[in-house]
Amino acid sequence: MKKRTKILATIGPASDSLEMIIKLMKAGVNVFRLNFSHGTHAYHLEVFNRIKEAQKQSGLHVGVLQDISGPKIRVGRLEEPFNLEVNDTILFIKEDIVGKKLTQNSYVTCINQPTILKQLSIGEYIYLYDGMIRTEVIEVNEKGVKVVVQNSGKLTSKKGVNFPNTRLGIDVLTPKDREDMQWGIENDVDFMAISFVQNAQDILNAREILNKSDAKIQLFAKIEKFDAVENIDAILEVSDGLMVARGDLGIEVPFSEVPALQKMLIKKANTVSKPVITATQMLLSMTEKDRATRAEISDIANAVLDGTDVVMLSEESAVGHNPVLAVETMVEAIQGAEKIYPFNKYSEFELHDATDSINEAAVKLCSDVDAWGIISLTSSGSSVRKIARYRPRRDIYAVVHSEKVARSLTMCWGVVPAFMVVEGSLGQMMSSVMNQGIERKVLQLDKSYILTAGDPAGIVGNTNMIRILRENEMMFFKSLSKKIGKH
Ligand code: PGA
Ligand code: MN
Repeated sequence: MKKRTKILATIGPASDSLEMIIKLMKAGVNVFRLNFSHGTHAYHLEVFNRIKEAQKQSGLHVGVLQDISGPKIRVGRLEEPFNLEVNDTILFIKEDIVGKKLTQNSYVTCINQPTILKQLSIGEYIYLYDGMIRTEVIEVNEKGVKVVVQNSGKLTSKKGVNFPNTRLGIDVLTPKDREDMQWGIENDVDFMAISFVQNAQDILNAREILNKSDAKIQLFAKIEKFDAVENIDAILEVSDGLMVARGDLGIEVPFSEVPALQKMLIKKANTVSKPVITATQMLLSMTEKDRATRAEISDIANAVLDGTDVVMLSEESAVGHNPVLAVETMVEAIQGAEKIYPFNKYSEFELHDATDSINEAAVKLCSDVDAWGIISLTSSGSSVRKIARYRPRRDIYAVVHSEKVARSLTMCWGVVPAFMVVEGSLGQMMSSVMNQGIERKVLQLDKSYILTAGDPAGIVGNTNMIRILRENEMMFFKSLSKKIGKH
């Protein structure tokens, strides 16, 4: 089951048992998503502990992404559903009320974040029920705003509301989100995703919370608002990765723009060597059915070919009728696309420093001498992420010193967090790599490999050498363990 693109699967009632978690990992899941829009801390802790246990039992690494739910804006409770017709009006008032019908064609209700109402102007749109019902603002006053309905539909209590033209300028970390982040910090999750990010400051605010606890958790910005798209460069600069959150993004912008945005976001993330996840509805029909649609298989393949690091399952694995089959299908779709993958993207990126040049050269050399893989010694994982942007045809074997760094690389395209070694001299570490690699049949003596490392070892960001390892060099390193007495 070889694939280079990673799979992120959301855990839910259909997949939260230890047995299922192990099955999903064996089927090809690299990272699990704990969706904090649902479930209690106690529930998530149980699942989290099962994921740890699953790693012990399977010997496989898997990462955990905590998805922080953010300010999902909703209409209030309604006395009875609103059967909205074109040209009906709805008054959204600041007061917290139970929504009701006023006259034959007018209604009144509220939203869960009333301060937003004063940001609206005449001519802007409010979308109701996840974009299904569109309304236009025709009046703004002290009490709230009045909108006119543009297409008919039935609105029920607590349905999602979107403001596709309005810069809301709200704090995207709600009090609940802050408590949830503390949970993630205490339990040391590997990744956190922040929902409804509007600008770089939203990520910096989340980062400050992590920094206060000295937490080493990678922060992913979920791009699902039109202003996040506008501010993407600044957001990307302060994030560790992105999620193309197509569900909400497709409401905030015309959904016909989502494919182009997906390509743009992936390209930008690739350029700066930050992992990017493509999410939502990738295999939606498999929530109920055994067989994916052609369109879904194409969607996964196209995301892979766009250059995504990770593809995500939501309902399919959380509440679907056969999460393992969904993962297996996703693996097949990835493999199909990877047969025609545009590997070896050297000369495509600007090189900013010597490390960039070395990483590019390593990938080119790997291709030129037809080496079987790139072995990269990395203490923080960053040099491995930098190699991945060139999309080498062969595996990238990360040599790391901690489980935490190994898990952080589960989100990175093409990286096999293969070897755990004690920090030491280059000779000591390579001797350990060779012994483990040959014992586990990951490395083969009749093949050659490219090695990149910093020598002397242990200085972050000092990758300064490339070597070709052929049988002689590999045997030399392997035999060192006898001389230095350990591996
Ligand atoms: P969600 O995020 O599943 O948390 O809403 C993904 C999306 O909006 O696509
Ligand atoms: Mn979303």
